[in-house]
Amino acid sequence: MKAFLQKIQTLDPHDAAAMLAATIDQFEDRVVMATSFQLGGLVLLDMVHQLNKNIRVISLDTGRLPEETYQCAEQVRLRYGITVEWVFPRHEAVEKLIREKGMYSFRESVANRKECCGIRKVEPLARALEGAEAWITGRRMDQSETRREINIVEDDPSQPGRLKVNPLVHWSKPELWEYVKQNNVPYNRLYDKGYLSIGCECCTRPCQEGEDERAGRWWWEAPQEHKECGLHFTGGEGI
Ligand code: SF4
Repeated sequence: MKAFLQKIQTLDPHDAAAMLAATIDQFEDRVVMATSFQLGGLVLLDMVHQLNKNIRVISLDTGRLPEETYQCAEQVRLRYGITVEWVFPRHEAVEKLIREKGMYSFRESVANRKECCGIRKVEPLARALEGAEAWITGRRMDQSETRREINIVEDDPSQPGRLKVNPLVHWSKPELWEYVKQNNVPYNRLYDKGYLSIGCECCTRPCQEGEDERAGRWWWEAPQEHKECGLHFTGGEGI
């Protein structure tokens, strides 16, 4: 592990492909890529393909995703010939939630929203990551205030001993778009309709010019520190 961390430190912090290659070589089938088919994840999937490497790809089907996300996922599956391991919430938990609190309880309070994210995202992700020693995400520092402090390699606070690798930490949104255009990477068409960050359909809206990238997520909530769903706990009120 020490050698891996030293290797990462010798790499150009902007060279996401080299980070990916080093991570996959180190962990082999014990590393997982988690993607919601947003821009960063799509760039990373294309890089893995260009590196001619294999990696387990998981995605969470919360049951509330936009149609455009499924269309994008299907394009990716066909383009790269990969198997996407869709992970679903436990149906008993979803049934209980909507039976007791209705279909839109997440709008009523931050606690209720976290409960829904916990059932539809956090628990399924934890299940999907069981046994993994590392997972790769498309998170970047410039996405929001809550992500300014993230590093290329971090301990996963939800599982001692597991690492979270963020090869795109130092990339900007324009750089992602440049990569997507140059490499003809399939992307979620909601980006063409003003969306900057895409999650569940009922909890995501398009953004206005100059808004924070994650402003369209749970837009009825404030302040900024609530713009995380618990998949990427960053400390304090980060869930
Ligand atoms: S984003 Fe909204 S619908 Fe999706 S899991 Fe979280 S609260 Fe539930």
